[in-house]
Amino acid sequence: MSSETKVVYTTPEEINTNPGVPAPDHTCKSCGNVFKGLYCNVCGEKVLETRDRTFKNFLQNILLTLTFTDNKFIKTLWYVLRKPGFLSKEYAEGRRVNYIRPLQLFFVLNLIYFLFTPLQLFNTSLRTQMFLRTHSPLVRSMVYAEVGRDPLSLQGYELLYNEKTTSLAKLLVIVFVIVAAVPMAVIYRKRNRYFTDHLTLAVELTTFNIAVNAILLSVFLMLTSQLLHWTHMGWEKYLDDLTLTIIFILTNTYFLFSAGRTFYNQHGKILLLKIVLGLLGLFIALEAYRLILFLITFWVL
Ligand SMILES: [Zn+2]
Repeated sequence: MSSETKVVYTTPEEINTNPGVPAPDHTCKSCGNVFKGLYCNVCGEKVLETRDRTFKNFLQNILLTLTFTDNKFIKTLWYVLRKPGFLSKEYAEGRRVNYIRPLQLFFVLNLIYFLFTPLQLFNTSLRTQMFLRTHSPLVRSMVYAEVGRDPLSLQGYELLYNEKTTSLAKLLVIVFVIVAAVPMAVIYRKRNRYFTDHLTLAVELTTFNIAVNAILLSVFLMLTSQLLHWTHMGWEKYLDDLTLTIIFILTNTYFLFSAGRTFYNQHGKILLLKIVLGLLGLFIALEAYRLILFLITFWVL
C-alpha cells in the first residue's frame, strides 16, 4: 500500500476534525498538482472519497445525467427567460459555478429544437429560401440554373435539399451566434466589453429564441391546434411569415430591453434607440445566416 492510496480514501471528516493539525496534501490524479482540500486548485479534479464509490452514488449520477435534477439546468434556463442578460452578466463577471455554462444550455436546447419542432427559425426550407426572403431572387436564379424549371425535378431537389439543410442547420446555428454578436459589439462599443462578452450575450439571445420562438411556440401551437381544428380553422395559415415575424419582434424587444439594462447597464431614452438598432441588427444577422445556410447547403448537395 503506497501512501498515495491512503490519501485517496481520506474522508472530509478526517481532514476537518483536527483543527490543530494541518490538512494533508493531495497529489492531483489528473494534473499532478499538490493541493489541500477536496478539489484541485489547478484543474478542478475532485479527490475520490469512499462514498463516491457507493452504488447509491452511481444511481444518483445516472439520475443527474438523465434529468438535470441538480436544478442548475432549470435554474439557468429560467434566468434566461425571466431576466435576459443576467446570465451573461454573471458569466462575464466570473460568477459561474451556480449555473450551467451558456454554451452548454445552448447546445441542449438546440438538440431539443431539432428533435421536435416543425417551426422554421434557424432551420429554413427551400420554399422559404426561394420565395420569402430578401435574398430569394438570388436563390431562385441559382436553383433554376442548377435544377431547371421542371416541377418534377424541382420537387425531387426540394426533398434532398430540405433534409440536407436541416442537418447542416444544427451545426450552423453557431454561425448565427457569431453574426448576431457583431451588431451588439457595434451598438454597445462604448460599454468597454470584450468581444467574447458580446458573444456570450449572443449565445444567451440565441438560446432565448430557441426556447421561446421555437420550442414554447411549437408546444403552444400543438396544444391550440386541436381547438382550432374543432372550429374548422387550420392553424397552419396563422403561422405565416408575418405572424412569426411579429412574435419574433415582440419577444426580442423584451430580450433587448432586459439585456440592455442588465448586461450593458443602459437606461433611459437611449436604451429605446438601441433596442430599435438591435432589432435591425438581429434581422440582418438572421438573413445573413439564412443566406449562408442556403449557400452551404447548395454547394454540398
Ligand atoms: Zn489537478
